[in-house]
Amino acid sequence: TTYPNDINRLNAPFLTMFESLIPPNEEKVKQKQLLTVLEKLVSKEYPEARLFLYGSCANSFGFSKSDIDVCLAMELQNVDKSDILLKLADIFESNNLQNVQALTRARVPIVKLMDPVTGISCDICINNVLAVVNTKLLRDYAQIDVRLRQLVFIVKHWAKSRQVNETYHGTLSSYAYVLMCIHFLQQRRPAILPCLQGMETTYFANVDNVECAYFDQVEKLHNYGSRNGESIAQLVWAFFHYWAYCHDYANDVISVRTGRTLSTTMIKYLVRCSKRAKDWTRRVGNDRHLICIEDPFEVSHDLGRVVDKFSIRVLREEFERAAQIMHYDSNPCVTLFEPY
Ligand code: ATP
Ligand code: MG
Repeated sequence: TTYPNDINRLNAPFLTMFESLIPPNEEKVKQKQLLTVLEKLVSKEYPEARLFLYGSCANSFGFSKSDIDVCLAMELQNVDKSDILLKLADIFESNNLQNVQALTRARVPIVKLMDPVTGISCDICINNVLAVVNTKLLRDYAQIDVRLRQLVFIVKHWAKSRQVNETYHGTLSSYAYVLMCIHFLQQRRPAILPCLQGMETTYFANVDNVECAYFDQVEKLHNYGSRNGESIAQLVWAFFHYWAYCHDYANDVISVRTGRTLSTTMIKYLVRCSKRAKDWTRRVGNDRHLICIEDPFEVSHDLGRVVDKFSIRVLREEFERAAQIMHYDSNPCVTLFEPY
């Protein structure tokens, strides 16, 4: 890794940008407030149901003014999810929540609403417990080294500015970008992040027969990355350099679970041995390994699945553009984020 000599001049502007994207405390208070309101309304109809925040409002990678993601956890005995969502939509509508909409046919069925008191919009899904658990994993990683949170905010801001954070257009979700940042920091030498799933189990959950186990006493890992002195500017430079020039897109699987890259050849082998890896078979058969990002818990789930042969080019060209700008441009903090 050979950074430009004056790379550290970019530390201050990147940190300022990071600070400006963090939600202020009063926003967090409002989110809690809305959750309490929703909890009250839901429990009148479903007293045993529990509400959890997940996604960027709970994983510590959320920007100011983002929507919140809520998961309703409850036992479903012979009741249809759609019926519950429609019922919930009714309840919310008659209690002055705005823009209430039940999307029962979406891949993840939800009710959408907007709270006129706090101005916050929210999506509510049912029993997406795995998302609640992976939210905790991401939040735990963020507590180990501040540079993860700084890097993710800058990368998400770049991805949104360049329009490569749109799964419906074949680019990657915010969740996928966070996994790429964690993976990248696990690969630094010395490593900046450990592999929590490779350590002693202190947290365990069995969610829909998926075993989620990892070391979650992250307060004990506060000094983990201190042997690596790389600055945020150096890391942003190296992040784009890595995805532009160092990653083998055709053959490598990005795996936060193992803390390394796996080879797709090995995955093919695993597919033959395990039914659980079924989703990868189809991809192997189609030879569509354009970018492979393994979900940390649901290992058969490839977050790169949304990427097709057109969008992979867009994505890789954007990584190359960013790497070039970080290396040669006189004002990367502006150029990098120029709207596409
Ligand atoms: P944003 O700030 O862009 O809204 P976000 O962190 O909320 O970012 P989303 O991509 O909206 O990210 O995802 C919300 C949450 O849903 C994630 O944190 C993750 O827990 C879960 N999730 C999203 N996409 C997937 C996926 N493809 N597979 C598994 N879980 C996912
Ligand atoms: Mg979200």
